[in-house]
Amino acid sequence: STQVRLVRRPDGLPVAEDFEIVTERLRALRHGEARVVNDFVSVDPYMRGRMREGASYIPPFELGQTMTGDAVGRVVESRSADLRVGDLVTHFLGWRDVAQGDGKLFSRVDELPGLSTSAYLGPLGVTGFTAYVGMTHIADLRDGDVVFVSGAAGAVGSVAGQIAKLKGAARVIGSAGSPEKVTALTERFGFDAAFDYHTPDPARRLVELAPEGVDVYFDNVGGPLLEAAVEVMNDFGRAALCGSISGYNSEEEAPGPRNLGQLVSRRLTLRGFIITDHQDLYGRFREEMAAWLADERVVTEETLVEGIDRAPEAFLGLFEGRNTGKMLVRV
Ligand code: NDP
Repeated sequence: STQVRLVRRPDGLPVAEDFEIVTERLRALRHGEARVVNDFVSVDPYMRGRMREGASYIPPFELGQTMTGDAVGRVVESRSADLRVGDLVTHFLGWRDVAQGDGKLFSRVDELPGLSTSAYLGPLGVTGFTAYVGMTHIADLRDGDVVFVSGAAGAVGSVAGQIAKLKGAARVIGSAGSPEKVTALTERFGFDAAFDYHTPDPARRLVELAPEGVDVYFDNVGGPLLEAAVEVMNDFGRAALCGSISGYNSEEEAPGPRNLGQLVSRRLTLRGFIITDHQDLYGRFREEMAAWLADERVVTEETLVEGIDRAPEAFLGLFEGRNTGKMLVRV
């Protein structure tokens, strides 16, 4: 089995030398265990936080250990009563081509006619669920809202914008990091307007694109885009704070938006959330999203990097905007 381990805590932007690729022979399965060959392994921005020491909502990665995280694959050998050869499973054993361990570490999932198994790491997985919960539950989207999504061409953002439209938003605006992505937002993902955030004054671009102001902001980026969104939000506006990738590689806390005074005068609500707290909404999400995917009311993209040894490269690509939609490693 080939695995990727974290061997050094990154300083700023991670580099290849922070990781080690190890190949080892797997021992025979013990009673109750199963072996799974992965189809796809997820790389996610939150993993940067786990590379740091210190307490957070999820414990840090341990040095010298294989990177954990979401993956989907098939059982190739089983000594577990619950799993059969050929079963499709998801698990959290992370950056490796073959995973094995107690059968309880693997969750059997349904086959998805017409969809790649990678959907379990994208629209039907954590990123799709995050978009859904953030937009419907945290931001409490209402009919007729004007919505702004940052990081809009990524896995969460591209789905969040489409959910907003499906749930009654009057207008959805997105920001992303390249002209190609800006085009994809309006041409492919159904946003009404989009702009490249590498503009000196994002708040001014937002006023141009949403002269009526913004009611809901879905924040994937933090920093300057959060400040710009606060600047253009309407009275009683609501923001779902999902992530702040603009600061993930910084060793210092990012300075706060300078315009927090506006929260008072415009009676804004900014609410952070972590998806794992919302399992109660998963059933409802799963049903709605499966229907949207089936009739292509939600379309998705993925960016695939081939080979588990390239997982670090795929991960670093997230911070360079190399992905449109979900970044995945195909094993
Ligand atoms: P994405 O698919 O959005 O990939 C990351 C993207 O971030 C890149 O493609 C890049 O696009 C953009 N980006 C990178 N650096 C910057 C920067 N300095 N400024 C602006 N944009 C940048 O990842 P996900 O969809 O998986 O995650 C999106 C956000 O959601 C992240 O903040 C993540 O931490 C958060 N998240 C939160 C969860 C929760 O429970 N709260 C659960 C899952 C995700 P570009 O080309 O546009 O720069």
